[in-house]
Amino acid sequence: MAKRNLRILKRVRNIPVVGTCELCGEQFHVNPHPHEMPSEAQAAMQQQFNAHKCKLEGQGSETSAEA
Ligand SMILES: [Zn+2]
Repeated sequence: MAKRNLRILKRVRNIPVVGTCELCGEQFHVNPHPHEMPSEAQAAMQQQFNAHKCKLEGQGSETSAEA
């Protein structure tokens, strides 16, 4: 099983707003409320990340075929 990893691409005032899955490149966006804690925005993004399904199969743009 390949391990997937969430990477933060963009932060606004230390709050993560755009992240991506390092495995399939899917992007996740959160719209933080003005008074939201960075940890809450991160948690919301993490939830999206946990819920998504990596689309490694079928879309053969990134086939790392290393034996
Ligand atoms: Zn993914």
